[in-house]
Amino acid sequence: MATAVYPGSFDPVTLGHLDIIERSAKMMDHVIIGVLKNYSKTPLFSAQERVNMLKSITAHLDNVEVQSFGGLLVDFVHMNHADLIIRGLRAVSDFEYELQVAQANRVIATDIDTIFLTTNIKYSYLSSSIVKEVAAFGGNINEFLPPSVADQVRKKLSEQKG
Ligand code: ADP
Repeated sequence: MATAVYPGSFDPVTLGHLDIIERSAKMMDHVIIGVLKNYSKTPLFSAQERVNMLKSITAHLDNVEVQSFGGLLVDFVHMNHADLIIRGLRAVSDFEYELQVAQANRVIATDIDTIFLTTNIKYSYLSSSIVKEVAAFGGNINEFLPPSVADQVRKKLSEQKG
């Protein structure tokens, strides 16, 4: 048993992410969700909005906390005295990049391991980008997101249009 960091941009958090969080929470003493503040794409939601959404959908999980972070992931892991990084794998296409990042992290921080959880098959197609694309064209996003998150995506997009 250990403390793990589950990092990502979560812009927005999907049911695929939530599935990984719930499964990690069962395996770990403590799970810290790390919301990446500055990533290369322009986010739909601010870091604080993403943190708030994650907090509200993980409120039922006693051993899960949510923080935002900038800079190196391994520094965030050390700062929180965590032992592991968790990443989700959807398809072979995720694997090559994830392997490279995990190996680079292992070189710069030899005490931290990355573990991969394979996606729940029903969410294997799901990504935050797909959700944003469907929503931007007025499609139904209810199958992809927790209800409160789906409401906030629709609200944000209508604010942006209006
Ligand atoms: P990134 O850090 O590439 O922006 P995300 O924030 O979208 O990735 O996702 C964070 C983590 O969740 C990554 O490990 C990603 O592979 C995983 N993930 C994303 N969508 C799913 C899904 N549908 N099923 C399982 N894991 C997922």
